[in-house]
Amino acid sequence: MATSSSDPNFGLEETYDAIVVGSGAAGGMAAYALTARGARVLLLEAGRDYDPVSETPMFNAPESAPLFAEATPDKPFGYFDAAIGGWTVPGEPYTVAPGSQFKWFRSRMLGGRTNHWGRMSLRFGPYDFQGRSRDGMGVDWPIGYGELAPYYDKVERLIGVFGAAEGIENSPDSPEGVLQPPPKPRAYEYWVTEALGKTSKMRFVPAHMAILTRPLGERPACFYASDCMRGCAIGANFQSTTVLLPPARKTGRLVTRTAAHVYQVTLDARGQASGVKFIDAATGARHHARARAVVLGASTGETARILLNSKSSSFQDGLANSSGQVGRNLTDTLKIGVSADVEALQDLPPFNDEGASLFHVYAPWWGYDEQRAGRLNFAKGYHLEVWGGRREPDVGTMAGIAQASGVWGAELHEAMRRGYGSEVYLSASGEMIPNADTYCDLDPHVKDRFGLPVLRFHWKFGAHDVETARHMRTSLAERFAGAGAKVTTDVSRPIEAAMRVGGTVIHEAGTCRMGADANTSVLDRWSRTWDVANLYVVDAAAFASNPDKNPTLTILALAWRAADHLADALARGEV
Ligand SMILES: Cc1cc2nc3c(=O)[nH]c(=O)nc-3n(C[C@H](O)[C@H](O)[C@H](O)COP(=O)(O)OP(=O)(O)OC[C@H]3O[C@@H](n4cnc5c(N)ncnc54)[C@H](O)[C@@H]3O)c2cc1C
Ligand code: SF4
Repeated sequence: MATSSSDPNFGLEETYDAIVVGSGAAGGMAAYALTARGARVLLLEAGRDYDPVSETPMFNAPESAPLFAEATPDKPFGYFDAAIGGWTVPGEPYTVAPGSQFKWFRSRMLGGRTNHWGRMSLRFGPYDFQGRSRDGMGVDWPIGYGELAPYYDKVERLIGVFGAAEGIENSPDSPEGVLQPPPKPRAYEYWVTEALGKTSKMRFVPAHMAILTRPLGERPACFYASDCMRGCAIGANFQSTTVLLPPARKTGRLVTRTAAHVYQVTLDARGQASGVKFIDAATGARHHARARAVVLGASTGETARILLNSKSSSFQDGLANSSGQVGRNLTDTLKIGVSADVEALQDLPPFNDEGASLFHVYAPWWGYDEQRAGRLNFAKGYHLEVWGGRREPDVGTMAGIAQASGVWGAELHEAMRRGYGSEVYLSASGEMIPNADTYCDLDPHVKDRFGLPVLRFHWKFGAHDVETARHMRTSLAERFAGAGAKVTTDVSRPIEAAMRVGGTVIHEAGTCRMGADANTSVLDRWSRTWDVANLYVVDAAAFASNPDKNPTLTILALAWRAADHLADALARGEV
């Protein structure tokens, strides 16, 4: 189905039930759920059309690409990675305030970042929704786990997530039959499970990944032979372009327009959203699309930018910003990684070490008892992701071995053969607490190629974040050393230098947080702006906190819940 046309008015003939902005996890899910409920939807996507079937290079070998498929500025994760967009988008800059460090990864393609995300899919737990009540940090969500649980069930059934019920505190189990069976651990994952997981309460358990291990509807199971970051031409992992948009199109109620860069939400005389203004990214022409409701899912940063750019006499500081919280409370995931060389994994005979992309096991946070006993100096938790194994090598795979070996020629070849697959990398993901110094606003001096003010990022980690990161690094290094592995990461660097720069974990959240009080939050419990009743925000901008668990499953669940709320309101004629 066409997503663009030589007709400049393509898709603008009617007043829709809803306009959805952005087609990634958030916008894709809103479009899916609204069209399924009978709504006519105009989906506006700033990037270009993208067809995962014809455009996914599932089997291309590195040597068939320029620079052996190495990363370049326009392909930051390598030549074959599915990203269109990246850390820079030509003609669309952002700025970083003096003294801050921040990097912003943006997609400009149908399906957004879901075409190449990691697929780690964890439910937030009951504690995660009640942060402030439990430990006095951050704020509480206006909803509890129980309210979102049915939507987690629906999302997991729809997109297909493998994993297992393990009964772990604050890492909720899915009801029986919802998750697909997990794949077996690979050699290095067995080592991690046995050697590291037995030294304390910490346990490595099956990871939860949005990858099929069994066929689901017309989608086949993964055949464990390619790289999910390139996208999946057979639809065996979750991408908006393979799982959400095709059924939405099949309803006949979805009109999609790509290269449509939305910059403003418009209001009618009653102060209700009447539609959006957008720029055709190909021609520069400006258009106005109309609808009974507007749903923003352009991603955490861009959704805040659209609201801040939607100024009017009634909203001089940006639309839906009477609380002053649009752009505030920005967070990313805290990240620290530690590598080690494991002798038991050296010199293994050749074997097939493929599997689902990324890891088959992970360790949920294990320290609640320690925290209750007052033995830890931070309140929130972190989980561990596990990297290693003998996947198809590419540029850089042997760099660590080469640097550590200090030899050349035949000896280096021997060191590489011996060491290939013996390095294990544990990556800790933790919760950052929102703080007053970390936010985004409009840069008063810089505009993009469309003449629109760009976002300016302000970033500072708080003391609690730094203490969490310190614990991550110490505990990982001690665990490796306790299991006899040789730590290869320099763990003597200042901890602030070892922490990943803000934005680089690509889990930004919080710029339009939901809450129980219109004075301190942007959205109500239904993801609807307090100020404009027919304007919804469905991406991670809505998050009241950014727990250690990766965000996308919760984006999908919240977006579906918001779309149901809007569909009910449309059916009742309230909007
Ligand atoms: C390499 C990588 C690995 C990741 N791994 C994981 C993981 O394992 N687990 C996890 O939970 N998350 C992961 N993430 C994060 C995950 O991709 C995001 O949380 C998720 O895609 C966010 O969904 P979204 O819809 O808000 O944004 P996106 O998916 O980025 O979609 C936003 C869409 O809006 C469009 N858009 C932007 N501005 C405008 C505008 N002005 N007008 C119209 N359209 C606009 C964009 O072009 C884009 O298509 C990863 C991300 C990356 C890049
Ligand atoms: S690893 Fe599996 S799910 Fe991922 S791209 Fe390959 S076949 Fe698809």
